[in-house]
Amino acid sequence: MSTDPAAEVEHLRQTIRHHAHRYYVLDDPEISDVEYDQLFRRLEAIEAEHPELVTDDSPTRQVGEAPSAAFAPVTHRQPLFSLDNADSLEALEAWEQRVVRGLEREAAGYTCELKIDGLAVSLTYENGRLVQGATRGNGLVGEDITHTIRTIDAVPLRLRGDSPPLMEVRGEVYMPLTAFEELNQRQLDAGAAPFVNPRNAAAGSVRQKDPAISAERKLSIWCYQVGYLEGGPPLASQSETLEWLGELGLAVNPASARVETRAEVEAYVSRALEERHAHDYQTDGVVIKVDSLAEQDALGFTARSPRWAIAFKFPAEERTTTLKEIKVNVGRTGAVTPYAVLEPVFVGGATVTHATLHNEGELHRKDIRPGDVVTVRRAGDVIPEVVGPVLSARQGRRLRKWHMPKRCPFCDNPIVTEEGEARARCTGGFACPSRLREYLFYFSSRSGMDIEGLGYQTVDLLMSNDVISDPADIFTLDADTLLGFEGWGEVSVNNLLGQIERAKDRPLARLLTALGIPLIGPTVARTLTRRFPSIDRLLAASPDELEAIDGVGPEIVASLQAWATDPETVRLIDKLRAAGVRLEDPEPEGGRDETLAGLTLVITGTLDDFSREAAKAAAEDKGAKVTGSVSKKTSALVAGANAGSKLAKATDLGVPVLDEAAFKKLLADGPGILDR
Ligand code: NAD
Repeated sequence: MSTDPAAEVEHLRQTIRHHAHRYYVLDDPEISDVEYDQLFRRLEAIEAEHPELVTDDSPTRQVGEAPSAAFAPVTHRQPLFSLDNADSLEALEAWEQRVVRGLEREAAGYTCELKIDGLAVSLTYENGRLVQGATRGNGLVGEDITHTIRTIDAVPLRLRGDSPPLMEVRGEVYMPLTAFEELNQRQLDAGAAPFVNPRNAAAGSVRQKDPAISAERKLSIWCYQVGYLEGGPPLASQSETLEWLGELGLAVNPASARVETRAEVEAYVSRALEERHAHDYQTDGVVIKVDSLAEQDALGFTARSPRWAIAFKFPAEERTTTLKEIKVNVGRTGAVTPYAVLEPVFVGGATVTHATLHNEGELHRKDIRPGDVVTVRRAGDVIPEVVGPVLSARQGRRLRKWHMPKRCPFCDNPIVTEEGEARARCTGGFACPSRLREYLFYFSSRSGMDIEGLGYQTVDLLMSNDVISDPADIFTLDADTLLGFEGWGEVSVNNLLGQIERAKDRPLARLLTALGIPLIGPTVARTLTRRFPSIDRLLAASPDELEAIDGVGPEIVASLQAWATDPETVRLIDKLRAAGVRLEDPEPEGGRDETLAGLTLVITGTLDDFSREAAKAAAEDKGAKVTGSVSKKTSALVAGANAGSKLAKATDLGVPVLDEAAFKKLLADGPGILDR
């Protein structure tokens, strides 16, 4: 790093300007927000230490970027500001201390709002009619985007009720996640590059010459601020302002809340972080504002941002890193999947070294090549993925495209891709050690037969010593063999054998799931075994009988038939039977329990006494249907702690909501509870 602060400042400013241009004007960033923020903070720190180096044109004194000449300029009546950031609770507290110092007392209250990850726009209404939409631009001058703003359904062209003679309102235009996924699918189908994230997609869609293109993109908006007002009711606070905006028919985010204390601010922040993925839009933080407009006036602005507001930023979910190598693995069904070996990168709260690349076609569509600098995304519990390459970082380097190997690196059998299939598969069957290992591991995992102690390493050990070569071998393991392995004592051997013994008696649906038949997951398996509670009856069922079951379609039937007629299946079933594995469910006394038949339930949030899967099984065992999304047809929503958007939707639609206690009552006493 340079030791001359003046030179470093100059270098930082140039770098920041370059990235700001790519981000704000071209909608095509080259680095992640975290990396940009680091550069920005470094510049702020040097300027704070060396005030003589501060200039008016420093990025720390400016908002955004000069507007593009492609659109008519709009001079804002009041500048649109940026926000100061806090990336930790300490930084948030430091801001609150500054507020207290500025006001010489505690603020009378705060509003907390989700920080929507979209782009800031300003909407001008004259006598209730929308007359102009503009981007933020450099804060003073933005771009005229009235023609595209008018295509957004959530932007009213006329306000409701008593509207003021002149009003300029600010909001964030965003692309709903469902619309983003559809758009990227369309881009891929058309052979075009997908958008890096919903924010860029939204910015690119609003800044279109042709409003028809914007209209297709299904954008939306949340409004959060009045920038300029002539007339209108007397407003004393931000929370009153939001309420009034809602009355005028503008979209105001329902999660916005007024809170009284700093402790409540922190509680809001942690809840927003927990529920970050419960919305159909991306949030990148929480904006905390001093609620009283009089107090806001007293605090005022710095060159770039209001002193009365701060953005608490959530940890980044996207970072860039180097893709060192592309390798493949063979999964339990024989599918060969490429994955990325990455220069380790800390993202979404964890260090990521590998990420899935799905299939070769997708890799080529995204044009990802070994050696590329790539954007990696890890959000919530989702498996890390490579979003795409940073093409500008490839310039001047010759990187070769990657191709699927012709032979399996584990068993040397040919790898083939069937016509019309996205996935390549290894033709080695269970002779492929990678496939067999994945299959056996899945078979004994919690999703399958739930044999505790039979994890990845043990499966590997047993396989490499030729002790097991199919799932049935697990059930004939004996103590002597196991005791022969290094590190295995009597206690661990007895534990494992006890677990295996118990697994012989699992419900048939579990066994069926564990066998890994394509399309037969836990739900389908339960549906099938309710109707055919023994493997022999299931194998003998005709396609018509199977298709008559609610929830079983032709693809499932075809998959089941292919499996049932495979000689390998017949052999395996015989072997399982001989090993003492139960292949039918005991007939329940008094016949099947159908007390909840006819009910359609949705389960959301965290329950204390059930995993999601267990709650579903409990309801289905009594004949209820359990689906994933709330609609008018839903009989009731079972909502545990931290229920998010499904709870909101159920409330909207008037669907009854049951807490865990009520759900237990429903299971015990039947649907009577819903009549009350
Ligand atoms: P910001 O995104 O940190 O915060 C200000 C913006 O927040 C507002 O303009 C508004 O658009 C938005 N916002 C969302 N919800 C809001 C609410 N409820 N109330 C008020 N405002 C709300 O600041 P910025 O100046 O827009 O951009 C700076 C950020 O952009 C940086 O932190 C960086 O992450 C990113 N950036 C990235 C690159 C890059 O190359 N990756 C380049 C430039 C900027």
